[in-house]
Order: sequence, then C-alpha cells, then structure tokens
Amino acid sequence: MKLNSMNIGNPKILIIDDEEAICDACCQVLSGEGCLTEVSFEGVSGLKKLDDFKPDVVFVDLKMPGIGGMEVLAKIAEKDTNIVTIVITGYATIESAVESMKNGAFDFLPKPFTPDELRLITRRALEKRKASLEAERLKEEKEMMRQNFISLVSHELRTPLVAVMQYLEVLGGGIAGTISQEQSRIINRIKIRLNELLALIDRWLKLSRIEELKLNEGFQDFSLAEVIDEAVELVQPLADEKNVSLQLKSIAPEILVYGEREMVKEIFTNLLNNGIKYNRENGSVVVESREEGDFWVIDISDTGVGISDDQIPRVTEEFYRIKREGSAAGSGLGLAIVKKILDIHNGKLEIKSTLNQGSTFSVYLPRSSMMTGGHS
Ligand code: ADP
Repeated sequence: MKLNSMNIGNPKILIIDDEEAICDACCQVLSGEGCLTEVSFEGVSGLKKLDDFKPDVVFVDLKMPGIGGMEVLAKIAEKDTNIVTIVITGYATIESAVESMKNGAFDFLPKPFTPDELRLITRRALEKRKASLEAERLKEEKEMMRQNFISLVSHELRTPLVAVMQYLEVLGGGIAGTISQEQSRIINRIKIRLNELLALIDRWLKLSRIEELKLNEGFQDFSLAEVIDEAVELVQPLADEKNVSLQLKSIAPEILVYGEREMVKEIFTNLLNNGIKYNRENGSVVVESREEGDFWVIDISDTGVGISDDQIPRVTEEFYRIKREGSAAGSGLGLAIVKKILDIHNGKLEIKSTLNQGSTFSVYLPRSSMMTGGHS
C-alpha cells in the first residue's frame, strides 16, 4: 500500500538536512509513494516552511550548520505538537536519540538508510499523525458538545421554566381572575417545586462554567476575612430559621488570597449552608483560620449529623447525596462545585467527620501572596 492511500490525502513531508544527497534520495523515494516533498538545507528556512507548506512529517538532521537539529525540533513542537518529527542522525548514539525524543521527536533514522527503511519509518510517522489529528478532532467535538449542552440547558430548559413561573405569578396574583384559597395553595406549591428545579439548573450551569474558566483568568488578591464575612451574611437567615448559631473565630484580616473572589465566596457559602442544613436544633457552625505549610486553612466545623468514613470520598462527586430520613433538599452539586473551585485555585478540601457528632470541612488555599502586598 502506497503512503498516499492512508487517508490523509497526499502526505506532505519536509526534509531539513544540509546534505543534498540525502535530501534528493528522500524526495525520490517519497515522491514515488505519492507524497509531496519540500527540502531545506538548514534550520531557519526549514522552520519558515512550516506555515506555508504545512507538513505532516518533518525529517530533521541533527548536525547542521546554523541552528542545530535539537533547536529545530523544539521549535516545531512549540508551533504544532501534531507535526510528527523524525531525526536523521549520522552518529546514532543512544544519547542523541533519547535527547531528540525529549525534544518531541517521534523516532530516529540512522544514516545511511535504505529506501525501505525510509518508507517504513514514514508510514509509522503518518499513522501517528493520523491518530493525533483524529484525537484533536474528537477533543474539539467533545468541547462543542459540552458548549451546546450548556446553551441547551440554559436556553431550552431554563427559559421556558422562567416563563411558567411568570404565568404562575399572574394566576396567583388573581390578575387572570379570582382564585380560591385552595387554588392559591396549590399554585404556591408548584412555585416552590419550580424554584427548586431552577436552582438545580443554575447550580449545574455554574459547575459547567467553572470548567470553562482557565487558571488565573480574572484572578486578583483579596481579603479572605471580607469574603467570609459576606458569605456568613448570606447564610445567616437560614441559620436563624434553623436555630443554628454561626461563630466566626479569628480570621486574620491580613490574609490575602489570590483568586476569583466570587468563586471563593461560593466555597464558603456552600460549606456554611451545608453546616447549617445538616445540623441539629440549637447546633453550631464555627469558622476558624490557621496556617499549615504553604496553605491557609479555614476549618468549618458543625455539630450536625456527620458523614460515615465510607461516604466521605463520595460526597464531592457530582449529584451524590446521602440518603437519610427527613434529609434536607439539595442537588448533590454543592461540594462538587467547592472541589472544582478549589482545584482551579491550587487548593484542596479535607473532610473529617464523626457520625451524629459533626463534621469539619477544611478549605486549603495557597498562601503565596500572604501579606506581600499583592501579586506581580
Ligand atoms: P446537597 O447538599 O445539595 O445534597 P452537596 O454536594 O453540598 O449537595 O453535599 C453532598 C452530600 O454530602 C449531602 O447530600 C449531604 O448528605 C452530605 N453533606 C454535605 N455537607 C454535610 C455536612 N456538613 N454534614 C453532614 N453531611 C453533609
């Protein structure tokens, strides 16, 4: 089977070698196989050909005048990791081969080589090229599907639900005609369930959007104490409703965290919310900070129902909920969101718990910019 019948059209091969005889031999053999070939006698002009010629495979001589083969390899890998590179080497020592592989070369071809050896190594390189292009295509397709799914959920699901809610407001408010007390009670129950559904969709969307965020995008230094104060303020009404006391202990005002402020706040609102939700009547939630190695650690301890050892590793999974009698409503996404946010901040979550006594959720955030006056 010729090389041009491998489903990548006419394969394009670039040869960068200062020896004219080698270049000629390669071109002859590979053109006979239906490949398109280009030649450069030194590295700089070879690298310039990458943009116009767009080769599938590049043969690079290790020893050339001007920039050396290793540098050419590194530059090609920098430009496009899908270009397959093969090193032509006159002194096929193991060290130079290993070194070139480290610089991204796929294989090496010792001089002198036969036409069959050249064909074989080119075939293998083209197979590799095909596989990596396919992998890239699949990755792009997966990303597209994820994006489409997000927009499907937000537009096709969320928008009609909001419209239904609007109609219920109209009905419940008696604007479309007088309604009885019983009808009003039913409408209110529908509204509660609908709100739960909307909250679930919003949490799920939030989780998907965290995945889209790149590390350091929109990151800044901010005061951790301030963020925790704001989170406490948000959950205080729930604590009052459940008769749970919230105690903030010694969060040093000078602690600076480098990150996405609103997301870090989300960590604490979620954990405080859970500490209250899974607590007992007259229980408490205590928040304290400490240092441990390179991290600031914020412990959120509650006097609640606790989590058994075998469940602890599972509670941060998406949609995982522990089934308990009379369990509070939820989506099973809160801790998954906390974990994802901590991942992109190079932090971590540790959970310690004793059944029927309570749990401590420890948030680890890197203390790289502590009191240094900010990040450069
Ligand atoms: P949700 O609270 O919406 O169910 P989470 O992801 O926040 O989702 O939590 C997953 C599960 O972990 C919960 O269903 C709950 O059973 C358990 N859990 C979370 N926080 C606590 C806590 N502070 N005490 C006891 N159990 C908890």
